[in-house]
Amino acid sequence: MDELTEAYVKWKYNFNLSDNFNEEYSFKIDAVNIYTLEKEVCIHRSENTKAAVALVSAGYLGTSPEFPSLAISLQTLELYYTLRLFKPSFSVEAFAKALCHLYSIPFRRGYRTGLSDTFDVYLAIRRRIDSQVAKELGHEGANYCVLNSCPACCYKLEDEPELEFSRMWVVDGNNSLKRMAGIGNREVSDTRIFGESDYYLSEDFVNIYAGEIKARPLARNIEDEDPDELQSDWVDEEHGDPTDGIEDSELAQCTENWKAAAADQQKKMWGIFHESGYFASACRHGFVLWVADMIRSGELAKYPLAIVAKALGVLPPRWLMGYDIGCSFGGTILCSSLGPEFAKQKCRTCVNAFHGYSHNAACQQKYHPLNILGMGLEDLETLERLFSSSNQLAPLIRYMTAYRRRVFIDIFLQQWDQEKYQNLATMLHNNYVQALNILEDEAKALQADLLAKGITIEDLETYFVEESNHLKEIGKEAEGDLHAVAYVELLQRYRELSSACDNAAADFRSQTPADYEFLASAASYSRNLSDGRRAETKRRYLREQRDKTLFEVVQMETAMSISPRWEPTDREYIETIEYMNTRKYRQALERLYKLVIQRLFELHKMNLSFTGYKMRTHISNALQRRSKAIRNAVKTYNSAAAAIGQLTLDWVKVTHYSFLDQFNVLQDTRHSILDKKWADPVVRHLMKQHRQVARAKEEIQHCNIQIRRLQTSIFDEDKKFQKVLEHLKDTSMYFPVHDFINRRRAVNQLLLSRIYQTQALPGFTGNRNPGVREGSGPPTSTSVPMNLDLPDPDSDDGEDAEDDEIVDGMGAVIEYMSNLST
Ligand SMILES: [Zn+2]
Ligand SMILES: [Zn+2]
Repeated sequence: MDELTEAYVKWKYNFNLSDNFNEEYSFKIDAVNIYTLEKEVCIHRSENTKAAVALVSAGYLGTSPEFPSLAISLQTLELYYTLRLFKPSFSVEAFAKALCHLYSIPFRRGYRTGLSDTFDVYLAIRRRIDSQVAKELGHEGANYCVLNSCPACCYKLEDEPELEFSRMWVVDGNNSLKRMAGIGNREVSDTRIFGESDYYLSEDFVNIYAGEIKARPLARNIEDEDPDELQSDWVDEEHGDPTDGIEDSELAQCTENWKAAAADQQKKMWGIFHESGYFASACRHGFVLWVADMIRSGELAKYPLAIVAKALGVLPPRWLMGYDIGCSFGGTILCSSLGPEFAKQKCRTCVNAFHGYSHNAACQQKYHPLNILGMGLEDLETLERLFSSSNQLAPLIRYMTAYRRRVFIDIFLQQWDQEKYQNLATMLHNNYVQALNILEDEAKALQADLLAKGITIEDLETYFVEESNHLKEIGKEAEGDLHAVAYVELLQRYRELSSACDNAAADFRSQTPADYEFLASAASYSRNLSDGRRAETKRRYLREQRDKTLFEVVQMETAMSISPRWEPTDREYIETIEYMNTRKYRQALERLYKLVIQRLFELHKMNLSFTGYKMRTHISNALQRRSKAIRNAVKTYNSAAAAIGQLTLDWVKVTHYSFLDQFNVLQDTRHSILDKKWADPVVRHLMKQHRQVARAKEEIQHCNIQIRRLQTSIFDEDKKFQKVLEHLKDTSMYFPVHDFINRRRAVNQLLLSRIYQTQALPGFTGNRNPGVREGSGPPTSTSVPMNLDLPDPDSDDGEDAEDDEIVDGMGAVIEYMSNLST
């Protein structure tokens, strides 16, 4: 392999090719070259050169190391590699077919296999060169990438203001990168494990956290159950999921929603897939930190826990982690062996913006990004973007070997990070502009509205506290109420049984016909006899039931000191019936809410494109079922609401995003909240606006710091590049390192131009001069290196990052999705 790599570098950089060769050892071989379309090449070599090495020196790679029958040109492989970087779904087979087409020969499976095997070797050579380049640049060490790849997160400068959180990052699982288990004998023939990735956590490491959390079953509603899909098919009874660590009644709703959504996605998938997806983590700028394969399971607690373990060991303290079930997962971490370290490092969890809206109001107050001090305008949706991009790989890797699957995911992630780097200044620029706009528009509107309403910012803060105190009360039923309900229910049952008894007695009498002695037919006689017996049995049974119930009624009356017995016209009786109706109403509302949330989850996870046909059908069936269930739930809700004089809903409104916000107001029936300030829609809007303005101010502070970090790192990097190149002069490594540096410099140029654009914004408040990296000693020179061709700060390249627009305006996305397939 070393020889091949060396030969490759020589070929690639056109370097030292004047090897002596001996005609006697030259050979001819069938060749594939997309540029020349030649069918055969003659390879020259010297006596001691191996065929494989001679091939590489000539710009070819053999399909087998010892006795290659076919040679594929390195340029052809490079072209395929490059195409794949930008179109990850472009398969080896498609490329092989394209080659066959150009060569005017029919495609055969063997070509695909040959190309695929050769491409493996090509990739191995590339990886070797990349790691040598990294070594020359000092980019080495176990956690180098996590600690350095994102300058905005990692390049901490001296004397910079302390931020609330040292890092903001996210984790989430994605189940589109599945791989079928044991396809024929391919699995057996390729037992390699790809361990060269900077991103991958090993299965063994993940399994350290397997036994930490025990599974707790989901309290399922029987009505939701699909009779074809039994719970036992997919529930892992031993290993807990990320919500299993805690029992917090405030978050019970979140936990249940999450479990239900997760369960629906995983049904019956484990059997056929070995890797059932992957679990990823990334910083707020999108740079990938660690990933782990999910093996024959859904989102178990061990995956995020393993990543948290890494973060606690590698990242600086006081980080914040977002996760769609971040609210309960915080508790899960605390119950695990990582709990003490997590608490000691003062780390915390939160929910990402999209999922945040589907969590209940009490949870949102603590865990939604909008309500977290020091959060800035971060929505923590970066993994949604990663997943929607990595979904492109799904159809390709489903049938690959485990080794190749990882290789391709690794290449994908590297390219992803490259693009994130290239986009970093634009991302910060856009955030800056967004924050300035909020401060310009929203802050002004807020001031004016506060004045008009005659309230202050302090009042708004008080309303938050009042609302959260109020939320704590919701759902807590007074003990006395429950006893009264049980008593009234029992009374109702007793009265029903009493009247049923009376009716049965009347029936029995009517069963005995007055003219029975005149009946001629024996059959008719015996039928009448058995009817009579049945009526008698029923009468006795009812009498027994009635007496038993009466006994229970008396018991309860004694316990509750009730005397005389409540009558339907009594005040207590009427009040309890009203309370029962309210409870029925609340249960109907909660069920409706739960169904709407589940539907949102499904729509969100559906990832409309890149989902296989079968899966799409499965989801759309599930959605139809859910829609039907929602319609029924609306009906039940409306009849319960009418009984207590609450607002009724219509189906169309329920499927809109605004329903989720309305839920918390609808939920209240016991306390009259109409006189509470925070329930006033205008005030609610102001409260939200106030939070947004506060987050925008923080965002400006974040961007000021992070832009300067990026700028400084670019200047420092350039100085280092110059040194490294001088040091490598006249060595073979000079060329690949130079190649790397050239590309990086071009990107840095682009980044700088964007940074200057941000610095030229009218509202820019940051420091325009580069700083000194923390711990890098006294400043040497902060002047701009000469060879960096500085762009004109006013130039506008007009390129905006498409990525960031994808998930912008989550409210609109939810609205859009919820109106789909109704
Ligand atoms: Zn970052
Ligand atoms: Zn929650």
